[in-house]
Amino acid sequence: FPRQVYQSLFTWVRPERVPCSEILAVSAAALRDLGIRADDPSKNPDFAATVAGNKLQGWDEEALEGPGYPWAQCYGGFQFGRWSGQLGDGRVISLFETTNPLTGVRYEVQLKGAGNTPYSRGADGKAVLRSSIREFIVSEALNALGIPTTRALCLSLTPGVQVQRDRAEPSAIVARFAQSWLRIGNFDILRARSHRVLLRRLANYLAEDVFGGWETLPGRLADPERPYWSPPPRRNIPPEVVEGPSGTAENRFARLYREIVRRNALTVAKWQVYGFMNGVLNTDNTSLLGLSMDFGPFAFMDNYDPMYTPNHDDDMLRYSYQNQPIIIWWNMIRLGEAFAGLIGSAGIVDDERFVKTGYKDEEIPGATARAEHIIANVGEEYRAVFLAEYQQLSMARLGLKNFKESDYDELFALLLQIMEDLELDFNLFFRRLSALKLSDLGTEQARQDKASVFFYRDGLTGFVSEEEGRRRIGEWLGEWRQRIIKHWGSAGATQLSEEQDAQRIKAMKQVNPNFIPRSCVLDEVVKRVEFGHEREVLRRLTHLAQHPFEDSWAGRTFDGQKYKGDKDEEARW
Ligand code: AMP
Ligand code: MG
Ligand code: MG
Repeated sequence: FPRQVYQSLFTWVRPERVPCSEILAVSAAALRDLGIRADDPSKNPDFAATVAGNKLQGWDEEALEGPGYPWAQCYGGFQFGRWSGQLGDGRVISLFETTNPLTGVRYEVQLKGAGNTPYSRGADGKAVLRSSIREFIVSEALNALGIPTTRALCLSLTPGVQVQRDRAEPSAIVARFAQSWLRIGNFDILRARSHRVLLRRLANYLAEDVFGGWETLPGRLADPERPYWSPPPRRNIPPEVVEGPSGTAENRFARLYREIVRRNALTVAKWQVYGFMNGVLNTDNTSLLGLSMDFGPFAFMDNYDPMYTPNHDDDMLRYSYQNQPIIIWWNMIRLGEAFAGLIGSAGIVDDERFVKTGYKDEEIPGATARAEHIIANVGEEYRAVFLAEYQQLSMARLGLKNFKESDYDELFALLLQIMEDLELDFNLFFRRLSALKLSDLGTEQARQDKASVFFYRDGLTGFVSEEEGRRRIGEWLGEWRQRIIKHWGSAGATQLSEEQDAQRIKAMKQVNPNFIPRSCVLDEVVKRVEFGHEREVLRRLTHLAQHPFEDSWAGRTFDGQKYKGDKDEEARW
């Protein structure tokens, strides 16, 4: 049973000192986004000591004077659907907050694998090289794909520190950052402990300090004048209650809840569109900012298989690809439960009276019913926001920015069925489709001939014969071609001009990555860094992860050499 840290949101704690460290990779994009100017940070001893936890920026550690000590968060969580009690940052320590002077965006910088904290629960507080490389690469890859995510700044090897897992493994530290590391679990633990005043303070902090004020949060529910994607108008919101024109009162905590739900709906939609699977979507791994976070056994989809989960312990397939949207909603309901007291009492009890008297939900007439009603409505909103984003981005991957609901069904839904039946590679399909010339698809025979570019190997696996596979892909290509001509061509045209088709190809390549960090690629790079003591390969992988849409790299290899994986994986390059 872990030591319980009550009435706290975090604990001050210093990273462990390491005897030596070696910087393996730095994200140039991260430096830019943080607004840190450094020519070659890996040669800067101050930078190296900071990202290894040996130096605290601005601190005189002897005099114990400085701008703010490092800290570890206290949170709880529902793991695989069951309440787990207190979890917390067991091997993560936040160092400081820093604001990019150009963009004004503030980030919280922290170290993963920095040693024990009060939340380590008997574990060692360390991170192994393998998982650290995976986190470093996938953070920057998701960001480059336009998917909201926590970010990675720097990866350091810490040679003097051994960690024992199934075997002795090299340890590493990832310096990482996000606008906030708060997750649903931060509220879960306060609700479980009935720390009502702290819960309210954390909600106020999230809205005012992280999101930038109540007035930036979305307006009232189901406003027909305002489609979900338009920004809410800025206006001053009285502290407790907002009266909707139709008489439906909406309170500020409902707004906050909706903002969190909407952000998560948008993010999970993007995961589905690019075939990203987190693998462990527990509430302690679900961001309040809708960021992809906590990368354990994640994977990108290879062959399209909606039941796939990268988590080998997930026997029930709870966190499989197809379940992700519903699981995020399940998590949002847990958050709604934590918020229910706030939502139900807003407008009736203000902060000051709340703190003084510590109201109980049941003492406020109608509070529970009000909260339940609002949360149910937000469920509808989650669905709508998710679907709109998912459909729009999916159709953009097909080269279609305008479409009808029936186009979506006839084109995208049908394609998914074909991919599943033929066991086609999900992300390769779209990139290869992007590159096809429409003029090569003029006849049924030509389309069936071209179908084999989507086989990622010589033939097909699964239960569908090659002939049948070609026929189904060929037919689909015919439908797709029709719509592409309508969308990109001149009025009434039956084909595209070369210029029009080139524009279509360019647009599609901007949304269909040429590179994604597949598990097989990560495995190979981990091996080469860990056992082959190679370094350059990691830098090249970082570059690819940050430039996923580029045409220029060779395609079959990521380091100028022939891919050395097995035949099955080689075929995906
Ligand atoms: P995760 O499965 O990554 O979400 O982790 C669940 C909990 O276990 C979190 O509270 C982590 O901080 C903690 N944890 C995982 N690995 C370690 C470790 N090596 N040392 C300390 N805490 C850990
Ligand atoms: Mg976690
Ligand atoms: Mg983790």
